[in-house]
Amino acid sequence: MKVGDVIKYSPFGGGVREVVVTEVSADVKNGEPGFDGYLVGDPTHEVWGYASQVIRTARVAWNPDCASCQREGRGAFMPPHDASRRCKSGAHAHCSCDTCF
Ligand SMILES: [Zn+2]
Ligand SMILES: [Zn+2]
Repeated sequence: MKVGDVIKYSPFGGGVREVVVTEVSADVKNGEPGFDGYLVGDPTHEVWGYASQVIRTARVAWNPDCASCQREGRGAFMPPHDASRRCKSGAHAHCSCDTCF
């Protein structure tokens, strides 16, 4: 898990949330590792959670070193920075084939 990743985690109240990670911390609370972020599609809704609550880490949606990512901004509606492992179109960054996007 790193900054810019899109993850799924299960919050204390139940259910599943999809979140863009903005910070990864070795001590998010009570000495436990975790993350800060915001809900996908709702950047004003900030959340945090423990690493142990994370269900799945998706492809990297946003890379701070990439010019395209910087231009579009975090959480923008665009193909994720990392292509899918199953991509058959060259697996370049921001691939827009059916597998990646
Ligand atoms: Zn990028
Ligand atoms: Zn692709």
